[in-house]
This record gives sequence, structure tokens and C-alpha cells, in this order.
Amino acid sequence: MEPDYKQLFEKLPGLFLILDTEFVIVAVSDAYLKATLTEREKILGKGIFEVFPDNPDDSGATGVNNLTTSLNKVLQEGVPDKMAIQKYDIPKPEAEGGGFEERYWSPYNLPLLGSDNKVKFIIHSVENVTELLKMQQEGEEHEKKYETLKGINTNLDREITARAKEVEVAHLTLSEINQQLLEKAEDLQRSNDDLARFAETAAHDIKAPFRGVGGYLTIIKEKIKAKYNTNEFDEYFERIDLGRTKITTLLDDLLSFARVAQSNEPFAEVNTKQVVEDIMKASDLNIKETNAQFKISNELPVVKGERFQIVQLFQNILDNAIKFQDKNVPEIIIGAQKKGKLVEFSIKDNGIGMNPKYFNKIFEVFERLHSQEDYPGSGLGLAICKRIVERHGGKLWVESEPGKGTTFFFTLKSAEK
Ligand code: ADP
Repeated sequence: MEPDYKQLFEKLPGLFLILDTEFVIVAVSDAYLKATLTEREKILGKGIFEVFPDNPDDSGATGVNNLTTSLNKVLQEGVPDKMAIQKYDIPKPEAEGGGFEERYWSPYNLPLLGSDNKVKFIIHSVENVTELLKMQQEGEEHEKKYETLKGINTNLDREITARAKEVEVAHLTLSEINQQLLEKAEDLQRSNDDLARFAETAAHDIKAPFRGVGGYLTIIKEKIKAKYNTNEFDEYFERIDLGRTKITTLLDDLLSFARVAQSNEPFAEVNTKQVVEDIMKASDLNIKETNAQFKISNELPVVKGERFQIVQLFQNILDNAIKFQDKNVPEIIIGAQKKGKLVEFSIKDNGIGMNPKYFNKIFEVFERLHSQEDYPGSGLGLAICKRIVERHGGKLWVESEPGKGTTFFFTLKSAEK
């Protein structure tokens, strides 16, 4: 059976048009119709340029011109002509919004010769290369972007190398400074240790003869009393004794001050509630004599530190809170508040208070705001407290107003995680 050549042609997978010598479309493959969004009955019998005019929106369109040239060449010379890739936009059906759609084609025009060797028909074969071209264009764009990025990267690399050098130099300088600081800290520690040792020896050596003096004084006192049976000298003896006690206290305070920084006891868990209760029981404070009243927060927590020093800290501040009163019965409130990894303690009294201009001065050694007669003391208590708090990684400060009482605050590291 003879095949149906017409049907065979129309079903070919390639994109084909058959034109007569007037360039009128006489046959078309299904694939061509599909690629150009056309229908067979709407284009058969029409001139190719009537069906595919130039895109009026593309002022640089050359499709019609180039195809005319090629078709004429094939017609006149009777030889095939492979055209360069053409931008030849195709009209879109009204149903799809009209206008033109951008397309690129690779056309090939072949003559079909009659027995007289004249061109009877032209096979216009095309390949839709739009996607290929777009991919190529995108590839080029990517390449451009890649080149730009590469440039940026190179600059960045240079910048990073330069910065790294600067950091290295800074690091070296810092290391040197660090080393110097370390040496200075070691020097300081050494002289602190020397000072502490000196203070210890001096205090010990001064205290020893004083004990002797005390002993002899008692003997002399008793002998005079026995021999002359008089109390006439009692007051002098009392004064000497008071002076002796003062010097011993001063020496003890000096020693405490020197020892704070020297101590290398490891920090342990210290229950501050227990510390306060122990201090009150030990009756070192004038609680009974003054009838002092205490309000102690139940929340006093466990902190990290050296127990002996924490006791000293609370004791000195409580001692002052009872001591610096005029006529009031001392009322003291001890509180604590958790602040992150720290605990902030407050010890508030209802005593004589102080002028804010002394807030810094009172923490310095031997700084006192009153005479020995009014309020006795060595002027070392708060300096010792400051050293202790700082050694424990905290801060110590005061808030007060004359006549309105004083609150001391200090922070210590909480033992809670
Ligand atoms: P001292 O108690 O031996 O005088 P401190 O170093 O403990 O020495 O205190 C320094 C000074 O700070 C005290 O002399 C006093 O003037 C002042 N001060 C300390 N605590 C209080 C307080 N609770 N109220 C008023 N003044 C205080």
C-alpha cells in the first residue's frame, strides 16, 4: 500500500514549511504549527510574510528582510541556504493576549527542483533555538556575575590579609603589654607580700614588749596599793591600760589589713545567715549594752569565699552600725538580693549618717570622720572590708545622709550555679 505522503510529511517531528515560488505556504508540519502557535487552515494559502511579519515593537527586527534575501537566493540559484540564527518574533493568537513572543530560529531553506531543473518549491526548515540561546545568555550573565564576584573576592582576600596583619601586630603589642603587666603584677604581689611580712613582724615585735609592759604595770599597781593603800593612781593606770589596748587593737587591725591580700585559702561555700548568727552570739558586738535590734532577712544565701574574711567583713560593718549612733537604740536591717551570679547584701542602720562627700574617703586607711573621744576606732575597718570584698570579686559602697542613717552595700559571688 502506498503511504499517505501528505500525512507522513505533516507528522514529521521537524519544523517544516513548503513554500511555492511566490513564498505562499502550501504545506506545513504539525511540529511547525505547534512551535509558531499557528493553525494549518489559518496559514495555508497565505504568504509567509503575511503570516509572520516583523514584530512592530522591535525596531531592530531583521527577520523578514533576512528571510526574503535567503528565499530569493534559493529561488534564483537553486541551491540550499543555511541562514544564521535569526531573532524572529512570532505573533501570539488573540486568545493568548496578542502581541509578539520573542523567538530565535536556525532556518535552512532547500530548493525542490522540477524536471526542468527550476525551483518549484522551497522547503523552509527551522529549529527553535530560543531556549538554547536564553540558556547561553544566562550562562554569560552568570559568567559575568562570577567574574564580578571573583573580583570582589580578590579584594576581600586582600583586605582580610591586610587586617590579619594588623591584628597580628596588635596581638604582638598586646602580648608585650600583657607580659609587662604580668611582671608588674608579680612585682606588686612581691612588694605586697614583703609589706605584709613586714607588718606581721613589726606588729608581733611591738606587741611582745607591750605584753611585758602590761604584766609589769599590774605588778606595780598591786605593789603601790599594798604599800601605800591608796587609789590615787588608779585613774592613771586605767589610762595607760586604755592606751595599751588601743595600740594592740591598732596592731591587730593593721595585721588583718596586711593579711587580706596575702591569704591563699581556697574559696569554700559560706552560709551568710550562719555567719551573722555566729557574730551575734559571739558577743564581740555591743549588742547587749546598746540593746540593738536586728531584722535579718531569711534569704541570706550561701556565697563563695573565705569564711574567716566574710566573718570579718560582716563584723566590721555591723560593729560600725552599732557604734555610730548618738541617742537612738540601734536598729539594723540586713538584706540580700540575688543579682545574676552575684548577691548584693545591704546593712542599713538608723545612726548618725554621713555627708556624701565622704563616701569614698571612709574606705581609705586611717580615714575617720570623728575624734577618738566621740567614737573610738583605728580607721582601718572599712579599708579591710574593701580589700576583702575586692579579693572576692565584688564591690563595696555606701549610701547615707547626715542624721538619717547609713546603708552599706556589697556584692559577693553566689554559691548557686
Ligand atoms: P573606724 O570605725 O575604726 O573609725 P572604719 O574604717 O570602720 O574606721 O570607718 C571609717 C569612718 O567611716 C568612721 O570613722 C566613720 O566616720 C565612718 N563610718 C563608718 N561606718 C559608719 C556608719 N555606719 N555610720 C556613720 N559613719 C560611719
